[in-house]
Amino acid sequence: MENLFGLSLDALSAWFETAGEKKFRGTQVYKWLYKFGADSFDDMTDLSKALREKLAASATIIKPLPVSVLSSGENGSQAAQKIMFDLPDGLRIESVYIPEDDRKTVCLSTQAGCALGCVFCATGTMGLSRNLTAGEIAGQLIHIRKHIDPDITNVVLMGMGEPFQNYDNTMTACEILTSQNGPGVGKKKITISTAGLVPEIIRYADERRQYSLAVSLNATDDDTRRKLMPIAKKYPLKELLSSLKHYNAHGRNRVTLEYVLISGVNDSTDDVKRLIKIVSSVGRCKVNVIVFNPVGHSPLRAPENETTERFMKQLSVINVPLTLRKSRGSNIAAACGQLAVKSNTVPSANKNPS
Ligand code: SF4
Repeated sequence: MENLFGLSLDALSAWFETAGEKKFRGTQVYKWLYKFGADSFDDMTDLSKALREKLAASATIIKPLPVSVLSSGENGSQAAQKIMFDLPDGLRIESVYIPEDDRKTVCLSTQAGCALGCVFCATGTMGLSRNLTAGEIAGQLIHIRKHIDPDITNVVLMGMGEPFQNYDNTMTACEILTSQNGPGVGKKKITISTAGLVPEIIRYADERRQYSLAVSLNATDDDTRRKLMPIAKKYPLKELLSSLKHYNAHGRNRVTLEYVLISGVNDSTDDVKRLIKIVSSVGRCKVNVIVFNPVGHSPLRAPENETTERFMKQLSVINVPLTLRKSRGSNIAAACGQLAVKSNTVPSANKNPS
């Protein structure tokens, strides 16, 4: 039996035609699955009883299954929540819901685990179990929208995994999330965050995708970047920056350069000077500095407040939007991958550090 949850509108319409039904049934069921979050064909009350029975006999709706929610304990509606989901093969993934005054953001996972092994990231210690399907990616948001907050404004693909290593499923999930027959999230309100996979950045630019793009820069020289992010051995800064210029020439939005600030690693005055040069070479961009959120037994530390203030002050001469983000919900381990590691539920065979 085919799982209909995760099919694009075209695929769902084609499925109905193959099943001998009218093509528009695809749109009807698409709305039930993604706009209303239906859990069974019985919920689809504008379908005839006979069609619902036919569907129940020939297809399934399988979604990520929520198993627990942790709250950051902040005041009522401002509390961040981490939601853990079980997948049919026993793997576990997580999403984070972050309400703020002016926006409500959900951070989604795109893979179970991650192969890239960034040293500042808990997911990086798990290794990759597998790519998520489009339904498993979109299903996280559809659950949160139905059961936690119907008014999600922003989506960031910054949870477990590297979205560009699961390119096609990530794009199908984004298509579902932005559909007016689905959750209808604004295209620019979805941010895809990559560790810097150069060929996919170029592909993404060439395809003229309208979702926002963020790149984890995190260092201003190749040596430091390679130590923090092994993927930098494959794609050095020169190639990465060149791909970002290509994106700027073809992409529609400003790329965001993410910079996790780590004490004694990338927070010096020389780093600021090099970062200013990088920003001016990329051109149209934004810079988002994130104070490191210590994970597990990592020897890495967050900088002192004075260091962060000095770094931001020195960096403020750049002529592009600059923001500083402090981790919210660190008491629920809201940085990517942390809860899945703590819960120890990813099969041990898949937990080798990459
Ligand atoms: Fe993977 Fe992202 Fe973590 Fe790096 S930061 S290991 S790309 S999940």
